[in-house]
Amino acid sequence: MATIMHNFNSGPSILPKTVFEQASQAVLNFNNSGLSILEIGHRTPEFQAVLDEAIGLVKELMQLNEDQEVLFLHGGATTQFMQVPMNLLNDTDIAAYTETGTWAGKAIKEAKLFGHVEIAGSTKAENYTAIPKKLQVSPTASYLHITTNETIAGTQWHNIPYDCGVPLVADMSSDILSRQLDFNKFGIIYAGAQKNMGAAGVNLVVVNKNLLGKVDRTIPSILDYRNHIAEGSMLNTPPVFAIYVAMLTLRWLKQEGGLPVIEKRNQEKASLFYNTLDSLPVFKGPVAKEDRSMMNAVFVMEDAALEKEFATQAAQQGFYGIKGHRSVGGFRASMYNALPLESVQALTQFMTDFATKKG
Ligand SMILES: *Cc1c(COP(=O)(O)O)cnc(C)c1O
Repeated sequence: MATIMHNFNSGPSILPKTVFEQASQAVLNFNNSGLSILEIGHRTPEFQAVLDEAIGLVKELMQLNEDQEVLFLHGGATTQFMQVPMNLLNDTDIAAYTETGTWAGKAIKEAKLFGHVEIAGSTKAENYTAIPKKLQVSPTASYLHITTNETIAGTQWHNIPYDCGVPLVADMSSDILSRQLDFNKFGIIYAGAQKNMGAAGVNLVVVNKNLLGKVDRTIPSILDYRNHIAEGSMLNTPPVFAIYVAMLTLRWLKQEGGLPVIEKRNQEKASLFYNTLDSLPVFKGPVAKEDRSMMNAVFVMEDAALEKEFATQAAQQGFYGIKGHRSVGGFRASMYNALPLESVQALTQFMTDFATKKG
């Protein structure tokens, strides 16, 4: 059995080892209080300090201005698929969506429950192996929705359509805090924490408060962003432990040097991976080169009959979670913030050795 595990899982996924250690400690004895983080009240000064620090770190790392409110909410990114249109889209109005894969498709399906959806750009015809290069957005659209990183297809927006003329809404679940963007140019950013910034059970939502209060419908209290802003993410019992893990991960990210440093590291890992992939004819990357994701690298084998052997050997050598999504097949190496360069070096070495034997 291999002793070193390399965790390439797509989500939930690898977090820094120090986060695992600190989180375990807090389960046993939170801040030397003699109590577990799991048993303290969420309205105590102790937990308020955790939440305040998490919100402050998000604002600092993303360099957010005063209009951008930071919320930690329940329900996964999937809840945001419906919460966004419920708060921003009137029945008779249009929302523009880009159709780039499984996740964008789910967002589109939910938006149709609340108003009209126009497809501003689609790569469905290319099996989602690319990002649309030209968009058509109605100037009257309530917003444009993009999925900045398609976790399953392995594509990523490298040119964000900041100048689309309408508020920009982004599902950043799988590339949140992985690179520097102009976050103040987004109307709403949402992300489930479990891929790049914490444990499952909490969403980060960044919302420009000026966009709210413009729809006619009655919004249930728990789904109205304005209530969460008013209550400071404490409308009801928040996911205390998941927020704590997110706070620790944010602290780690700041300590490492923030987004400029992590982006450079992510680029280095992705370059090593894709350069290796392109140098080995037994492997193929289906995604258009300019749209390849730095987070989720999708690849297949030229001879599909070898895939089983590759998967078996990879598992024996401690590579975890590289099986591709059932809808795409092949393999997927997810290289989130906490994945060390050494793991990518080990994987590319393994791929090179495998190719040499089969070549
Ligand atoms: C994983 C993922 C989701 C779904 O997140 P849940 O927290 O499981 O609801 C949505 N969008 C993207 C891009 C994802 O990668």
